[in-house]
Amino acid sequence: MKRVAIIGGGISGLSAAYTIEEKRRSGAPVEYLLFESSPRLGGVLVTDRVDGCLVEAGPDSFLTEKPWAADLCGKIGLGDQLIGSNDFERKTYIVARGKLVVMPDGLMFMVPTKIMPTVFSPLFSWRTKMRMAAEWFHPPRKASADETVAEMVERHYGAEMVDLLADPLLSGVYGGEASQLSVRAVLARFADMEAKYGSLGRAMLAARKKMGAAANAPAWPLFTSLKDGMQQMVDALVARLDANALKTSSPAQSVIPQENGWTVSAGYQSDHFDAVIIATPTHAASAVLQEANEDLSRNLAEIKYSSSVTVTLGYDENVRRSLPPGFGFLIPRSAGHRMLAATFVHNKFPHRAPENRAIVRCFLGGARDEQILESSEEEILAIVRRELRQIIALDTEPLFARVYKWKSAMAQYSVGHLERLQRIESLRQKLPGLALAGNGYNGIGVPDCVRSGAEAATKILAEMGMWSAA
Ligand SMILES: Cc1cc2nc3c(=O)[nH]c(=O)nc-3n(C[C@H](O)[C@H](O)[C@H](O)COP(=O)(O)OP(=O)(O)OC[C@H]3O[C@@H](n4cnc5c(N)ncnc54)[C@H](O)[C@@H]3O)c2cc1C
Repeated sequence: MKRVAIIGGGISGLSAAYTIEEKRRSGAPVEYLLFESSPRLGGVLVTDRVDGCLVEAGPDSFLTEKPWAADLCGKIGLGDQLIGSNDFERKTYIVARGKLVVMPDGLMFMVPTKIMPTVFSPLFSWRTKMRMAAEWFHPPRKASADETVAEMVERHYGAEMVDLLADPLLSGVYGGEASQLSVRAVLARFADMEAKYGSLGRAMLAARKKMGAAANAPAWPLFTSLKDGMQQMVDALVARLDANALKTSSPAQSVIPQENGWTVSAGYQSDHFDAVIIATPTHAASAVLQEANEDLSRNLAEIKYSSSVTVTLGYDENVRRSLPPGFGFLIPRSAGHRMLAATFVHNKFPHRAPENRAIVRCFLGGARDEQILESSEEEILAIVRRELRQIIALDTEPLFARVYKWKSAMAQYSVGHLERLQRIESLRQKLPGLALAGNGYNGIGVPDCVRSGAEAATKILAEMGMWSAA
């Protein structure tokens, strides 16, 4: 019987465990033991229920176009529990010049593809609108080296586009800054489009044309989630795993290669395994691998993480009526607030709030405001309430408030990330029986983490001769 240790019980580690569990159930001679340092499984996927409302502490949904999370939900019996965002209300605002300005129709991520809505939008200055028109004639350009998202977007549309759109959109996804994040790692498509077409606008339109009828077919909404919240996915996964194989409150301290396998030390115990999957943030992977390979450990530590705070406020029906329609708003750095974004949850996922409740979920922190973690919950609530008053004149006392702090949870794919991943992979290959998964490598969202866990498990099973591509 082969034994696999899995370090980390977030969605990446659970996805790895599920892949091995499936193999085990089909009769393969393999078993696993999952070590999770905290008392609960699921990592940043946490759903609470407060006052009849569903409160997401971490992710609230995932991108529909990335199939791996929804596919896994199907396999674990949650296919009929998947829900889409309410895209009839899909309107997002940007805080500009002290007020909410709706993002113009036709923006694909940050690339304008429709002329009229952009020309008439009060969001951009005339200077930026002229840049958008000129962008149409950019010649193809193959960049010789990686660069930041800010550099690329500024080259095409100017600095205002970076401030009003690129930066707020990226801080919503990565808690990161456009001036740090790598184009090749976070917007690989943009680098390819620039090389082929020059103009990002023309490239987006060409891509849409290529999709033809599919582009006009009624699409499943942009975001997918679960009726009872993201925790539902964790609970269903855990129910399908071997309960004796899940060790919570068990931080792994080290994993050390032996002649014939690995020794994993957790607490006062050491145990022998044939293989190890490390499915933690890379800073934690770096720590447990320090003795195994210093070089690998150092490269893993170089992947930076940012921290974030989510604050959920519940209000009554009067507030619900007074809030703007739409999914919520993004706040550019130049607006001078500490909040990065807010979601009107009752619009985005209506069944998460009874009709007489409004839910406003706010994001703070990110790469440029790590100090928010030092603030008490009362201080954070005071900041959020003051800024909601300033931005949307929301002065009402909330019926409930919940604050969640996530320390070093969001990986920052900085310039050179892909080269670093290559170094990590070549070092890993020298350590047979080791696989890495998690949000530090090839995608930060829940679907990518599900995929990375499954791929890590598949790799290990293949090394053991228990997996064939067929
Ligand atoms: C506030 C927030 C909002 C987000 N919103 C979205 C969203 O809307 N959509 C989306 O797709 N993605 C979102 N993300 C990103 C996504 O949720 C995460 O990238 C993903 O869930 C990470 O999963 P993971 O298992 O790799 O890591 P984690 O969830 O961080 O889990 C890692 C686990 O490893 C454990 N661990 C660490 N060290 C050790 C050790 N030495 N021994 C044992 N266990 C250890 C930790 O306790 C933790 O449970 C969000 C993230 C955050 C923080």
